[in-house]
Amino acid sequence: MTSWKCSNCGYTLEADAPPEQCPSCGERCDFIDVSCYIPECDTTTSGGVDERL
Ligand SMILES: [Zn+2]
Repeated sequence: MTSWKCSNCGYTLEADAPPEQCPSCGERCDFIDVSCYIPECDTTTSGGVDERL
């Protein structure tokens, strides 16, 4: 699954491929692949050096 974000209204959805038409704003907008930008996938906080050490 890939996360897609509507560049027009910011609506996000998970699908293998971006929809032709945004289900939120109803426009044929560009969908941005935001798979690696969701909090669960944020490597800047879960990876790297632990500041508490
Ligand atoms: Zn939209």
